[in-house]
Amino acid sequence: MKRFDCSALSALVLMMPLALLKAADAAKDGRPGKVVLVLHGGAGDLPGQKVSTEVDKEYRDVMEKALRAGYKALQREKGTSLDAVEATIRVLEDSPLYNAGKGAVFTSEGRNELDASIMEGKQLRAGAVAGVTIIKNPITAARAVMEKSKHVLLTGRGAEIFATHQHLDIVDPSYFWTLKRWNELKEAQQKEKDEKRKGSAAPMRPRYFGTVGAVALDRHGNLAAGTSTGGMTNKRPGRLGDSPIIGAGTYADNEACGVSCTGHGEFFIRYAVSHDIAALVKYKGLSVQEAADEVVQKKLKKAGGEGAVIVLDTKGNVAVSFNSERMFRGWITEDGKVHLVAFHEKPSK
Ligand code: ASP
Repeated sequence: MKRFDCSALSALVLMMPLALLKAADAAKDGRPGKVVLVLHGGAGDLPGQKVSTEVDKEYRDVMEKALRAGYKALQREKGTSLDAVEATIRVLEDSPLYNAGKGAVFTSEGRNELDASIMEGKQLRAGAVAGVTIIKNPITAARAVMEKSKHVLLTGRGAEIFATHQHLDIVDPSYFWTLKRWNELKEAQQKEKDEKRKGSAAPMRPRYFGTVGAVALDRHGNLAAGTSTGGMTNKRPGRLGDSPIIGAGTYADNEACGVSCTGHGEFFIRYAVSHDIAALVKYKGLSVQEAADEVVQKKLKKAGGEGAVIVLDTKGNVAVSFNSERMFRGWITEDGKVHLVAFHEKPSK
C-alpha cells in the first residue's frame, strides 16, 4: 500500500483557493461511503466566527434530526426516496430556525408566502406549490400535487383549497410569524430606505438565504429531490423564486442525478440551475461535483448569482458547491454516519 505524504497534502490544502475548498467539500472530509441522503439549510454571507458554539449546535441538531427522520424513512421496508425527502424537509419546516415552514421570511407586506417542490427520478413525476399562506408543511402539499392531482404546480388560493381537500395540516397565517424574521424584514426595509435616500441604484444583496432542501437515494436505486422556502426577505407579494420551479430549484432524474438549490432565486430560474446540472451529468458525462461546480462556480458566479446546490447520483456520489460565504449542509451514508456543517466547519459537540 502506498504511504500518504501528509505534509505535502497540508501544503497543497493551504495553497488551494477558497473557491476550490468550497467546491471540494465531499473529498475534503475523506471519501464518504455511499451517501443515501443529503440536505441543505441555506447559504449566504454568515458571520461564522461570531456565532457561539451553542447557536451552531442548535442549527446542527435540527439538521441531524432531519437527516435521521429521512434515514428512518429509507430503512422502512417500503420506504422510498420520496418518503425520505418529505420526512427530512418536514423536520426543517417545523423548526423556526430555517427559512421554510415555521421559520419563513416575510414579504414586503409583512406576510409569509411559502413555496415548495418535489420530484422523483424514475418517471420524472413532480409536484409543487407556490405562494401559499396557510399550509403548515408545503413539501407535503407539493407531494400531494404530484400524486393526487393532474398538475405539477398549484399556486396561492387554489393550492390551499387543494391542500384542504387533501386533509393536510392547515394553520392560521399567524403560525408563521416569528420575531426574528420580523426584525429581519424591518432591517431590510430600513436599509432599502437608506439606499434610496443615498440615491444608490445598487440592488440589495440578501445576506442569508436559509431555504431547505434534500436529495435521497433509496434501495431501488431511485432518486428524489425537494426544496422548501419562505423565499427572500422583503420580496414583493406574489413573487416566486426558483424553489417551486422544476428545473430551477429542484430536479431529479435517475439517469443523471437529483439536485436541490438555494440562493438568489431569480438567477437560479434564469440559468435553470438544477436541470442544467442534471443535463451536464446526463449528456456530457460529468461527475456530480464537476457539473455542480461548472454551474455554481462558473456560470452563476460570472452572472452575479449567489447560492449553493446539493447533488446526489444513483451510485451515492454526493456533491455540494456554493459561491457564497458559507452553506449549511449535511448528509448521511448508508451505514448511518452523519456529516454536518453549519456556521462552523467543525462540529461543536
Ligand atoms: N432560492 C430561494 C428564493 O429565491 C431563496 C433561498 O434559497 O433561500 O426564493
